[in-house]
Amino acid sequence: MIDGYRHKGMRRQLIEELKEKGISDMAILEAFDKVPRHFFLDSSFTSQAYSNMAFQIGAGQTISHPFTVAFQTQLLEVERGHRILEIGTGSGFQTAILCALGVRVVSIERQKELYIKAKPIIQKLGYSPNLFYGDGYKGKASYAPYDSILVTCGAPFIPEDLKTQLKVGGRLVIPIGEGKKQIMTRLIKLGEDEWKKETYGDFSFVPMLTKTAK
Ligand code: SAH
Repeated sequence: MIDGYRHKGMRRQLIEELKEKGISDMAILEAFDKVPRHFFLDSSFTSQAYSNMAFQIGAGQTISHPFTVAFQTQLLEVERGHRILEIGTGSGFQTAILCALGVRVVSIERQKELYIKAKPIIQKLGYSPNLFYGDGYKGKASYAPYDSILVTCGAPFIPEDLKTQLKVGGRLVIPIGEGKKQIMTRLIKLGEDEWKKETYGDFSFVPMLTKTAK
C-alpha cells in the first residue's frame, strides 16, 4: 500500500472539513494527518477514502464517517498513556487514530473476518493495540480499569460490564438506540454508583449485536 502526496493532500482537505464541522482538538487533527484512511478500505474506494463518507468493509459492516470518528474521539478526552477500550474494531481505522494519540488501546470485534483483516493493517502502521475477537457486551475485564471506553456500534442499552470496567472519573462514549438512529451519549463516572449523562445529538451506526459471529 502506498501513501503518496495525493493521499496526503486529500487528508489535509479532510482535516479542513473536520475543523469546519467543529473538531478543534489539534492532537486529533494531527492523528488524522498521520493515519492513511485508504489503507483500511477496499482499493476501489481509494479516491473517495478522504470524503466524509462511510463505506462497506465486509461482513455487512461499515467504517464510520471520519467526522464521527473525530467527534467520538474528542468526547473521550484522551491523554497520552491512557488505557482505552474500544468496542467494534471494524476496519481498525478508529483504533489506529487512538494509537496515533499515544494511548494504549484494547479493541474487541465480534466479526472474525474483520478482526483478522484489521490486525495486519494496524500493525503495518507501527501500532500494537491489543485486539480481540469476542463479545463487546462483556468488555475486557483482564485489562480493566479503563480511562475511557468507546462503543462504535449502536447499543440497545448500556452494558453493565462496561460501566464496571471504567475508572472513576472516566468517560463512556456510546451511541444508544435501536433502529436507524442513535443518540450519542457520554456517561461520566463520578463515583462507583454516580453518573453524569450528556447527549450529543443523532448519529447512525450499525447495531451492536449479541453473540459472536463466525
Ligand atoms: N470503529 C470502526 C467501526 C465499525 S462499525 C471503524 O471505523 O471501522 C462497528 C463495528 O462493531 C462492526 O465491525 C461490528 O461488527 C462491531 N460490533 C457489533 N456488535 C459488536 C459486539 N457485540 N462486540 C464487538 N463488536 C461488535
